[in-house]
Formats: sequence, C-alpha cells, structure tokens
Amino acid sequence: MKMSKLFVQTLREFPSDAEVISHKLLVRAGFIRKLTSGVYNYLPLMWRVLKKIENIVREEMDAAGAQELLMPFVQPKELWEESGRWEVYGKELMRLRDRHDREMCLGPTHEEIITSIARDGLKSYKQLPVNLYQIQSKFRDEVRPRFGLLRGREFIMKDAYSFDTTQEGLEKEYENMAKAYTRIFKRCGLNTKMVQSDSGAIGGSVSHEFMVITDTDAGENDVFYCESCDYSANSNHAISVLPKTKIEGDWQKAEIKETPNTLSIEELCDFLNIPPSLIVKSLVYIVDKKPVIALIRGDKQIEETKLMNAAGGNEIRIATAGEIEEMMAVNGFDAAKGFIGPEGLKEYNGYPVTVIADETVREMKNFVIGINRKDKHGVGYNWNCEVKLPDIITDTRLVEAGELCPKCGKPLKVTRGIEVGNIFQLGTKYSEPMNAVFTDVDGKAKPYIMGCYGIGISRTAAAAVEAHNDEHGIKWPLAIAPYHAVVIPVSTKDELQMKVARDVYITLQKHGVEVVLDDRDERAGVKFKDADLIGFPYRITVGRGINDGLVEFKIRETEEIMEIKPEDAAEIVVSAVHNIK
Ligand code: ATP
Ligand code: MG
Repeated sequence: MKMSKLFVQTLREFPSDAEVISHKLLVRAGFIRKLTSGVYNYLPLMWRVLKKIENIVREEMDAAGAQELLMPFVQPKELWEESGRWEVYGKELMRLRDRHDREMCLGPTHEEIITSIARDGLKSYKQLPVNLYQIQSKFRDEVRPRFGLLRGREFIMKDAYSFDTTQEGLEKEYENMAKAYTRIFKRCGLNTKMVQSDSGAIGGSVSHEFMVITDTDAGENDVFYCESCDYSANSNHAISVLPKTKIEGDWQKAEIKETPNTLSIEELCDFLNIPPSLIVKSLVYIVDKKPVIALIRGDKQIEETKLMNAAGGNEIRIATAGEIEEMMAVNGFDAAKGFIGPEGLKEYNGYPVTVIADETVREMKNFVIGINRKDKHGVGYNWNCEVKLPDIITDTRLVEAGELCPKCGKPLKVTRGIEVGNIFQLGTKYSEPMNAVFTDVDGKAKPYIMGCYGIGISRTAAAAVEAHNDEHGIKWPLAIAPYHAVVIPVSTKDELQMKVARDVYITLQKHGVEVVLDDRDERAGVKFKDADLIGFPYRITVGRGINDGLVEFKIRETEEIMEIKPEDAAEIVVSAVHNIK
C-alpha cells in the first residue's frame, strides 16, 4: 500500500471530547470517526486491526471445538418474553416496531436466539455437547457511552454459547474456554488477569472476567488481588477477611441518647467519641422501585451490585433526601437522613420495606443505631434485645485494599482493569423458561446446561492501545497492527533513496509482510510523526545513509534505532512476521 493512496487523515490535535488515551489516539491517528454518540465508523486502518483480532478469536475458538454461525441483529420480542427478559432488561435494550406494529429489539446479546436455535436442532443427548459462536455488531443503549470504543453503544462482540447435558460437562467446557481466552489475549499482545466476578441475580452461578490491568481512568473495574496467592476478583464479587477491630461498645445499659445534628457517621463518632466500627449504619436504597434499608458496620461501605443481587433486582440507586423524608412520613416518623434505623418502616411506594444486613453487623455488640427519631440514636443496643437482627444477612460490603485475602490471609491490593471478555456458567437460566430440552440417555426430557462466553472485539482493540502507546502515538502489537511496517524514503526526489525504498517494499510484500511505502512528497519529519502516531511496529527509513549502503531501522515498541543494511532490516521484519503466532 502506498501512503499516498491510503485512506487515512491524521489530525494535529486530539479530539476535544476524548478523555482516555485510546479514544484520543484512535481518532487522531485516523482509525475511527464518530457518527453519533457511542457509534463509530471503523475506517480502513481500524478495520484491518479488528479483522486481525477477529481472526485470532476465530482460530482459537475453532481450535477449541466451537463452531461459527451468524444470527440476525434484529430480534423479535416474543423470544425475549419467553425468557422473561423483555420486562427486566431496562433501557439498554433498544426497542423498535416494524410496519406491522410488531415489537423488536436490536441485539444486545443473543441468549434467547441461540436457545431457540438449539431447541429446534439439538433434540438428543447424542448431539451434545455443542458450542456455537458468532462475531457481530451489538447494540446497547448504554447510560454513559464514553471512552470511544471502550464503551460504545454499537460495538463488535464475539459471543459463544455452549450446550451440555450435565454440570460436569459445562465445567469442562468452561475450563476449555478459559484456556482459549488466555491464548487469544496473549496472541493479541495483551496481558490479562482472569478474575472472579458477579454473575447477576442468579445465585450460585460462576463467572470470570478477563481484565487488562491499567492504572488509568479507562479501567472501569476495581480488581482486588493477592500477590501471595492467585486470588483476584472484581469489586462486585471480591470478599475479604477484616482485621480485628473494636466492635463492642462500653455502654453499661441500652438507652436513647440525644445526638443533635449528627448527620454523618463522622459527626456521630465525634459527638459520642467512639470509632465508627461501633455504629450500625442504615442506608436507604431504591432497587427496581422497591425500598431497601441496607445495614452495615459504620466503618465499611456498601457494594451496590452485591446489594442489588441480594435484593433480587436489576437497577439500584441510593434514595434521595426527599424520598427518605416521604418514607419516614408514610410510616409515622419525623426523622431524616442521619437518623434512619431498620425498625418500624413498613412500606413505601406501595412496596414493603426490605432490610438487608451486611455480615459485618452480625457480631456487633453494645452498638449505636438509628431509631428513626430526629436528633436521637439508640446506644448500647444489642441484637434481639432492643432491636431485631434482620432476617436477611449477607455479604454486601465493598472490599478495601489492605483487608485480608480470603484464601491466604495476606493483605489485598487493588488496581483497575478493562474487562475485555467474560465467561459465564448459565446453567438452565434460559433453557428452563424457554423449554429448550433434549432427551437424555434415560429417555427423559431435560433442559440444556448452558454456558456463555463473550469477547469485546472492538474493546480489545482499544484496550491494546491503552496498553501500548507513548507520547508520540500507538505502538501496535505486531499480531494486530494494521500494517507490520512502513518504508520511508526521506526524499522522494532522490533517485537512489526511492529505488532502495521501492526494492525493500517489494521484497517485504513478496514475503507476506503488510507494508506501507510512504511515497508522499512531504518533509521527513511529517512522515516520521505519522508513522509513530499510526503505530507501525517497524519503520525502515531510507535516507542519506544509503550512500554508505545503510538504512535506519526502528522498532516502535522499544524505540530502538539501528543503522543496518536494507536486506538485514527486511529479514528482521520478515522473520518477525513469520513468527507471529
Ligand atoms: P460491562 O460490565 O463492561 O458493561 P458486560 O458485562 O455488560 O460489560 P457482556 O454483556 O458480558 O459485558 O459482553 C461481553 C463483552 O462485550 C464484554 O466483556 C466487553 O468486552 C464487551 N462489551 C460489553 N459492553 C460493551 C460496550 N458498551 N462497548 C464495547 N464493548 C462492550
Ligand atoms: Mg454492560
């Protein structure tokens, strides 16, 4: 490819709406252009990268025994009603109507469709197990599309679904996919960590995420990990052992104490001169419109996904001050934020109030707790004496760095990660409601035991840029670079330089190297800048040195520069490209 013909416009400046480096660089280097919020054109350079990632994914999925198919992008409402998700999916699901007023949606994921395909075709245990996958654009009307390709509304995903006859079969396939994923990301030049993660409201299920670790804003997930053992988990799933601390108060008797203007835990601690670990904190949440009071030890924070799952909902938010006042009034109290407690609140919004306590409150004694009375708290209270221990007690706590590893007891660390893929043991979540069954050896009809496995193709490309860049631009890993190399004649007017540049270009092409010849009549500085920005892994510059038989060879990843013979430069590139796998 000649640079003069390559469809690429690099920009002098970063786009003003970009916050993270992959978004900035992909726009500035001419890989993507925004069409509308969260929707991007993949320009020729980007498309080459995406196709390479797709092919790595295809090769590894095929090698792992999965089969590729392609399902429609538009899906009928009926299947989503069968699974029960039409009602609960929320606004991310882009719903539309056709000319006959039939309701449809744009595919955000394909569990319903694949399950309907399976139930039509996989009738006997003899046909199982099967793993089917596709690579396709998905649409999710994300609340906050941002960070360019990292969180788009339209994005490319590989989604695979496995069907087994037994849980053991599913677990084996899960392992198989975990191994394939590790190979895929490694081949893409990415270091990933496989971490335990939340698996939604279906208790008991197992899921893991593959995270590209980054200490930038682009990492939307907090990952807790242990350096002494292999424990690592997303914050929505992480657990920890707490170091010992004071959880029993010194009060001689239980009483109601005046605590004026103690609106925060801090103010209450100051007023009573106690540590926060002696306070049972009560917070009001709204989960799918329903009121939830969450209790937790005063020095700890709620992890909202855990709380949402414990409440069995799909959307969670903290209640507003207005809602709290209203809830108090409806239940005959005059308290406001700061004085809330778990007892006596019956209903709100037409729903009963659910109280969910975190494990940390269970062992507390002689504690301080809100009693729904303004400027007052109960002190020296105990469970099942002055206040009832809630029925629902579970882990809803946000882990903090420094707390102890649940596996080996050493302090946990925290870092941020970009989720590029995930694997999930679904079990019968879809097959059961959709009546997707096979006939087992014993002649009985049973629902398939399913797994699902996603990879964000476009997000992986952006994550690679997050992981490989410097102040000059992108440093593509060789296996997914749009082109492997660029050949730059410093002066296109110099006959010798042009001749050698062309020879090297042709030699590389002959040996299967994807190479660009920068034949533009531009200053060398401009060409170098573009080469660095676009991120070609190898640059061969033919300048004055050619009079002594030498070219300049640059490795973008390490910024190493060598003066070598043109044929040696070509050989290094050819052999690197042949060794890509
Ligand atoms: P996230 O927690 O980041 O929203 P998710 O759990 O919703 O991801 P899945 O539904 O499991 O993601 O989708 C599989 C993969 O698709 C993810 O691992 C991720 O790599 C990618 N992906 C999900 N949402 C987006 C998005 N909005 N833009 C780009 N890639 C995405
Ligand atoms: Mg999501």
